[in-house]
Amino acid sequence: MTGSSRHEKSCAAPGATTRHASSRLTRIAASLAVAALAASALDVSTAMARNQWANYHWEFPADQTQITINVNNCQDDPDLYGYDTNVHFVYPNADWDDVINNPDGAIAVLDGDCPANVATQSDPIGTFNSRVVAYDASNSESQGTVNAFNANYGRTGWVGVAIVELISSSGDNHIVYGEVHLNDYYAGAYNAYNDPLVMRKIQCQEVGHTFGLDHVKKDNSCMYSSMAFIGSDYEPNGHDGGMVDKITHGHGTIEPPPPVDDGGGDDFCDKKPTHRRCLGAGGVFRGKATWAEGYESDDEMFEAADAVVSARVLNGSLFDRVVGAPGRGLPVSQAVLQIQEVFKGNAKGVIRIEHTRGLGLEIEDDPGYVNGDNYLLFLRQLGAKTYRVVNPQGRIAQ
Ligand SMILES: [Zn+2]
Ligand SMILES: [Zn+2]
Repeated sequence: MTGSSRHEKSCAAPGATTRHASSRLTRIAASLAVAALAASALDVSTAMARNQWANYHWEFPADQTQITINVNNCQDDPDLYGYDTNVHFVYPNADWDDVINNPDGAIAVLDGDCPANVATQSDPIGTFNSRVVAYDASNSESQGTVNAFNANYGRTGWVGVAIVELISSSGDNHIVYGEVHLNDYYAGAYNAYNDPLVMRKIQCQEVGHTFGLDHVKKDNSCMYSSMAFIGSDYEPNGHDGGMVDKITHGHGTIEPPPPVDDGGGDDFCDKKPTHRRCLGAGGVFRGKATWAEGYESDDEMFEAADAVVSARVLNGSLFDRVVGAPGRGLPVSQAVLQIQEVFKGNAKGVIRIEHTRGLGLEIEDDPGYVNGDNYLLFLRQLGAKTYRVVNPQGRIAQ
């Protein structure tokens, strides 16, 4: 079966001003959509239907033709909200194993056991207390593994996140470690996500990202995604498995990253564990999210938003100044914007917008803000002057 409903509805009733603003927004959005279409037509001709995520890939040692990746179950609430480990964790791994594990294949997926205590101590992008035992690429035991977590991270806007840690040399980006996070909040709060097959599909997609895959445009694989629709297929297909084989290659061994530089003194990183130079051992982190609140039209998004404004970025440079780490610790950072015009709600003056990013992590479909840029924003209110964008769909450059 498929998820029957995929988006939140708000109770806000449209009034006369709302309708007026909405049609105005539709015109703005329509002209922007034409520009986006032209850009994506170019993308198709150059991308050649390869669904690789950027140029990210695993590599196997020079003397071998295969790499084995343990995908470890670090999900600590397997029975929460009625889905269980079998459907939302074990099956996706077996599904990937089916499509990519063959004698000539580059990669084998193994179910592993989560290392002891990793659920509370592992977070490659840094919780405030997790650097004591870091199961990221700075720890050789973690290289070649993917850890999958679940937790109630709160109303973050995403229901699943995949993170890869990359070591780059000469422009070649090798994945050395991966994490998958499922946000139980949405399974608890919305029936659409309280569905083992929906969670299985999201888990499948996030694991696929940690193998170096991007989304596909056809709804015949768990790698299908659009901002507005979580697809119906909960398994990877043969094409996905072939792509993993194709992009995973050998040209040397994975270089162990250098040890954490303690830089400012013997215990600098003990005192400031979240300082950038104490994180990641030289690797960079990239993330992909499955957004929980997708909208089929701008009008629908308008109805669901608490506020709709156009605004100019005053300070977009706060992304590594983390303001909070909900749940087990994905970082959240802020941008400061000046409102230019209000289409819905009573926001005014200077506002802050929160995004899941920071500490070296970038969510690639939700990039940073540049000072002076203008956006049309569909917002969810978090506090008096604090908002988050309902979904990256709801942030339109002007
Ligand atoms: Zn390579
Ligand atoms: Zn995705």
